[in-house]
Formats: sequence, structure tokens, C-alpha cells
Amino acid sequence: MKSWIGALLLLWVILPHFSMGQIYPRCPTENKDPKSREIDPLESFAFLKFQKFIASSFNADTGGIIIIPVVVHVIHLYNDEMPGAETNISNAQVLSQIRILNEDYRRLLGSPGYNENPIGADTEIEFCLANQDPSGGFTTGITRDTTSRSNLKYPEDNAYIKSKSYWPPEQYLNIWTIPSLNANSLGYAQFPWKFDQQPLTDGVVIVHRFFGDAGSADFESNPYNKGRTTTHEVGHWLGLKHIWGDITGCGFPDLPDSIDDTPDALTSNYGCKPGNFSCGSEDMVENYLDYSNDSCMNIFTLGQKKMMRYILTSGDYPFRSSVRASEGSCNSIVESKIDLRLIPTSDPNILILQGLEPSTPYSIEVVFSSGKRVGTFQGISRLDGTALLRIEDFFKGMVILRVAEQNKAPRALKAVLIF
Ligand SMILES: [Zn+2]
Repeated sequence: MKSWIGALLLLWVILPHFSMGQIYPRCPTENKDPKSREIDPLESFAFLKFQKFIASSFNADTGGIIIIPVVVHVIHLYNDEMPGAETNISNAQVLSQIRILNEDYRRLLGSPGYNENPIGADTEIEFCLANQDPSGGFTTGITRDTTSRSNLKYPEDNAYIKSKSYWPPEQYLNIWTIPSLNANSLGYAQFPWKFDQQPLTDGVVIVHRFFGDAGSADFESNPYNKGRTTTHEVGHWLGLKHIWGDITGCGFPDLPDSIDDTPDALTSNYGCKPGNFSCGSEDMVENYLDYSNDSCMNIFTLGQKKMMRYILTSGDYPFRSSVRASEGSCNSIVESKIDLRLIPTSDPNILILQGLEPSTPYSIEVVFSSGKRVGTFQGISRLDGTALLRIEDFFKGMVILRVAEQNKAPRALKAVLIF
């Protein structure tokens, strides 16, 4: 009995901001029907196709960077909330999540998504907020709608949430932020092999206070306030399942995660337990598809990269293959926590950098997330502290602009450049 009391006290210490004894399953997305608990035969078929495909000449390291345009549907409570208040999260909070997705999926050096594991992958998949809506008009990539329901449930309310606002899933990754979910879930996603059955609900749903690392994702959402719920759910959307296989036990050959380099694990891991040993090997608690705390996670494996890029490129899932950024379909601005801003112009090759010292010599070095230098700009900023940057010679993708100015500390800005 004493040990049980000790365990509960320990749980209370680990999760200081949640009610004692509450377990937060990160998401109810799994390979079983949520009601019948039957294993989904569509998944088994999908994994057979995957194995067959990778046994051919598939190389996940070819094809270059894939950029996915995202629309974030903010579904907030109908109480006249202004953007940035409560469940009606701010644009800055949305942008923080896009930044985190890119850090994690690109294993960005110097970010929390970086790791030095020899099987850690830069998936070469990036995300941007869409700047064209389905009818071709300009958009911020963020929509706002209201609901009067404060206790949404999965799967009961799945179709209801998505009926509020839904953009063509062949062109966008739809993400919804919602007020709450199942009392204590963080988010969920729809696997790609469910699309034919459920074409009106494709995408990812996240409770607002677990989205990004700004605004309502504050210390009260700790330990799930670093944006990794979305990294995890987008992994499901790209065909990844939980690394323990959604069943407690070892060596279930009929229930693999179909990824050959994620170690077999007894069950999910909570908290942060590096070195936890089960099923004859060390659990990969840092994997985004486990249930560890946000700050514990930092890895997709090379095998998981293979699965995600198979889903995006093989043609077996044409509605995923078509979700690619094209010219003008993405906002170039990702996020700036400092006072520098990149502003698009009517010419897709020219961006305005805002926030420089007025009339001051500047030098801007542009590097890829890998650290490789792409090019430089030099000049004198205009009277209003702006500079025109011609980006036509650069490759598309996520870059870092390192800005040096006379008599000022260096600054850096991350951006996704599309042209
Ligand atoms: Zn999950």
C-alpha cells in the first residue's frame, strides 16, 4: 500500500499542474476502432503495401524538400473572445507551432528538435501557413470559427468540429485547435489510409493550450507546452503509429509499427525516462511517437522518415502526394520572436525585411537549416529601416537569415522561402 501512495505522490510531483492521478493519454489515435477496439484491417493492408514499396528501389533521401501548406482552423468558444484571448489563440501562437514543426521535422541544429542519434532523421519535410485560400484569394492560413460546446469528444464530435471549416485535403494539411477534448486528451489525427472512408475529416486536431509554445500554451500546460503534440499528431497524419504498437506487451509480430529501427517497447512512456529498458532493448522515449513529456522528445528515426516520405511520394495516397506547396501558395514568414519581419511583395522573388536600424549598413547571411550558406545581402537600410531582398537565386526551403548591422548585436530570423 505504501508503495502505491509513494507512486501517487511521485506522479503529483511530476505533473504539478494537473489534477493528481489524472493520466493524459497524448492522443486517442491508434490502430483500433475507438468503439469496437477491433484492429483496423485497413492499417494492416497499408503496412503490407509500405513493406512491398520499400523493398523495391525506394530511396527516402531523394526528391528534395517537401513543403506542406497548412491551414489552422481556430475553433473557439462563442464568448466574444478577441484573437489572443483564451481559446481564440493568437496568430503568434499559431506561428510558434509552425516554427516547432519545422524545427522537429528538419532536426534543426540549435533547436530543441536537434539530436545526434545516428538513426535520427532530418525528414526534409517542412510546413508553412498557406497564403492562398481554396478559391485563390489571399489568406493568412488561419481561420476563426466559434462553438458553444466546451467539452468536445472523440470520436463523437469529430465530424462536427471539422464541419465548422474544412479546406480541400488534397491541397492543405487541415489543423483544428479546439477548446477541450475528452476531458484530458491533447489531440488526435486521421491516418492516411482512412481517407477513402472518411474524406470529410482528414487532418489533425489539437487542444488550444497544447498548440505551439506561446499564448495559451503557457506554464499551466506544462509538461505539454512545447508544441510536440502537433509534431506527434502530424506524424500520424503521415502514417506513423505509436512506437509501442498500441498494445501492452512485447513481440507482437502481427502488430508492428512497420518501422524497422524503432525498438520494441512494452508500452507507452510518460514523463521522461531515458534508459528505460523493455522487450530486450532500451525504449526510445525521445521519439515523437511516444507519450513522453514535450521537453523529452527530439527524434524521428530514418525508418519513420521512410514511411512519411512514402506516404507523400509513392502515389499510393494521391491525396497526400498532391499536398505540396506551389509558387505563391505559402506565406514566406514563419516567425520572428524579435523585431525583424519578412514581408511578401507582389513580386514573389522580392521580400521586404523590416526592423533594421534606419540608414545603417547591414550584412545578411542566409543559411540553410543544415548550416550550409546560401548567399549574402549587403547594403544600407532605407530611412524606414527596411531593405529589399531579391531571393530568386536561392533554393526554396527553411532558411535562417543572420543579420549583422553596424553598432548592433547580431540577430537571426527563421523563414520558409518559396519562389
Ligand atoms: Zn498518438
